[in-house]
Order: sequence, then structure tokens, then C-alpha cells
Amino acid sequence: MKKFVNLYGMLPESLVNGVGLRRVFFAQGCKHNCKGCFSPESHDMNSGKVFDVDDLVKDVLENPMLKGVTFSGGDPFFQSESFAYMAYELKKSVKRFYLKIK
Ligand code: SF4
Repeated sequence: MKKFVNLYGMLPESLVNGVGLRRVFFAQGCKHNCKGCFSPESHDMNSGKVFDVDDLVKDVLENPMLKGVTFSGGDPFFQSESFAYMAYELKKSVKRFYLKIK
């Protein structure tokens, strides 16, 4: 079955969100209301842009410079099934990949 993620944003290449050059996915939606939250704009569960996870995986795999992906937010655990699927598909294809959830 097709998997989709709702994203607040994405950084195609980042050096400051984990080990090496990474693609960063910012999940849309969070209900934690942490004091001093750095991205309150990401909280709305009914906002964001929806992507087909297979398309995101394909796009990551086409960039040989990337050393991993980072799942940030919002909170990716509100879309855990889709993010877990993405992690599984990437790790299966690229053994060297580091996965970071922050
Ligand atoms: S986006 Fe992160 S920091 Fe902000 S409320 Fe959610 S979990 Fe907390």
C-alpha cells in the first residue's frame, strides 16, 4: 500500500543536522507544546504538503553525495508508519546510510 508523509519542509542537503551531508525532512504536525519550541509553525496537524514516500526515497537515492537522512519536525512520530517505511526502504538500499531522528 502507498505511503504518504505530510511535511512542513525539507532541506535537500544539510551539514548541520547529523553526520555528513544529509537530506532533512521536517514532519508537519506536533501536539507536544514544548516550552521554547523552535518551530511552532510546524504544529498544525491540518497544514503542510503531502508527498509520496516512494518519490522521496527515489530522490534521495539519486544523490550519491548524501550520507543519510534526518527526520525532524514537528514530530515525525505522529506519522510513524510512513517515516518507518521511508527509513526501511533507504536502509535496505544504502547500507552506509545513517538515520537520525531529532
Ligand atoms: S516541534 Fe519539537 S520542540 Fe516543538 S513542540 Fe513539537 S516536539 Fe516540542
